[in-house]
Amino acid sequence: KGPDPDIPVITARLSGIKHKVLILSGKGGVGKSTFTSLLAHAFATNPESTVGIMDTDICGPSIPKMMGVEAETIHFMLPNRDDAVIWRGPKKNGLIKQFLKDVEWGDMDFLLVDTPPGTSDEHLSVNSFLKESGVDGAVVVTTPQEVALLDVRKEIDFCRKAGIKVLGIVENMSGFVCPKCTHESQIFQATTGGGRALAKEMNIPFLGAVPLDPRIGMASDYGESFFDAWPESPACAALKGVVR
Ligand code: ADP
Repeated sequence: KGPDPDIPVITARLSGIKHKVLILSGKGGVGKSTFTSLLAHAFATNPESTVGIMDTDICGPSIPKMMGVEAETIHFMLPNRDDAVIWRGPKKNGLIKQFLKDVEWGDMDFLLVDTPPGTSDEHLSVNSFLKESGVDGAVVVTTPQEVALLDVRKEIDFCRKAGIKVLGIVENMSGFVCPKCTHESQIFQATTGGGRALAKEMNIPFLGAVPLDPRIGMASDYGESFFDAWPESPACAALKGVVR
């Protein structure tokens, strides 16, 4: 099989994008999409930077809702948002390719690529489609729980095998600050800080810890920028640390 003739087309399409970052997680539900949208909002707090998100989680896209664009024509590309996408790998890969090839991405500082949990077909195809145009690397999102951390090791192994640089680990849902009394409780008591320890063990940068904050969930549900709504929250401070 010869080289894919679509790759140079994709590379040309993405030539105006300065940085491409994949957002990965070992497990679902750890806050990967939430983190992707928070990160986009955090980058956008700098009025000079332009940010885009591409959601490659074809079967469970959350980004349109979290970014408040669900009602726009770009939304799920399905007639009804409750429809299930029951597609095998090749069809999903075809759609991802079409996204990259046919969208006029224009000039952008950052393209954040949200991916499905784990290491699936979509990751392999995104990586092969973007390889020529250059991916800066991947940020791996995890909760501090041991079951989640176990899968992070696999995610990092995948990155190493696929030649993707791991930019760092982010620990999400790391501690809960009570909005009434401001006391911080560790929800995953035994392993809080596990993300940091794992990063150290695997010789990967630890980018930061984002607390569990009910307002983050609410902002996601309403498609609002958490940064605009609650700029003073510890989660915002944590996110700003990640961006730096
Ligand atoms: P994933 O993309 O890893 O499957 P999501 O981003 O969809 O996970 O997050 C799962 C759920 O947890 C969502 O309901 C989201 O609003 C909530 N959530 C994620 N991170 C936080 C956080 N730091 N504080 C509060 N809720 C969060």
